[in-house]
Amino acid sequence: MKRGKMIYEGKAKKVYETDDPDLYIQEFKDDATAFDATKRGTIAGKGVVNNKISSSLFTLLEKKGIPTHFVKLLSEREMLVKRLEIIKAEVTIRNIVAGGMAKMLGLEEGIVLKEPVLEYHFKEDKLHDPLINEYHLRALGYATAGELDYVRDASFKINSILKEFFNGVGIDLVDFKLEFGRHKGKVLLGDEISPDTCRFWEKGTGRKLDKDRFRRDLGNIEEAYQEMLSRIVR
Ligand code: 5GP
Repeated sequence: MKRGKMIYEGKAKKVYETDDPDLYIQEFKDDATAFDATKRGTIAGKGVVNNKISSSLFTLLEKKGIPTHFVKLLSEREMLVKRLEIIKAEVTIRNIVAGGMAKMLGLEEGIVLKEPVLEYHFKEDKLHDPLINEYHLRALGYATAGELDYVRDASFKINSILKEFFNGVGIDLVDFKLEFGRHKGKVLLGDEISPDTCRFWEKGTGRKLDKDRFRRDLGNIEEAYQEMLSRIVR
């Protein structure tokens, strides 16, 4: 598949057209940003790790019946994906209190939730991805009731599948962010699933193996990403 014009450059990825109007190439960069891109840096090898981890997790989810935009791995940093019209909401699922939820509600990190929490955030960096709910999304025409029913159901299923998988490799899946989009009338899981978009805590020690090492200047960032790769892709 030949790479065509670059049509989008985000904080961590570039997207290219291909010969096929239904397919794009998603390229993973080593660039890292946090706090709405006010903090910037590079994590050596991150793009390669995130491409491999995302491919592997999308493949797992597809096997379990969740349709995703993933088609195939093309190279160390590139995957072939289905073209999506992205829904302007980030879906966050939380199993353990951390990050934004701890801050918003004045809670300690580490409280195990009695059931998973689903949040929607409006995808707009300059507004700091504000928390919204399904009423906002429907009333403003960003998604239909049917699409949101699907997104909610699929997100909880994805959480169950990933929680079980990560339990098996000694990791607590604390929280993660998903993005969905429309492809030929169907809603598919898009974007990536990686240490950039999830919180991973090592069971027993609580060691953070995700982007919080970069956000909070905890050091050993590259090692944490490599460690997650070796646990996920065996
Ligand atoms: P929080 O709302 O606590 O900051 O984030 C919850 C989870 O979603 C974390 O695992 C975090 O990595 C992910 N997440 C939320 N928003 C974003 C975002 O804009 N970019 C990335 N890469 N991850 C996000």
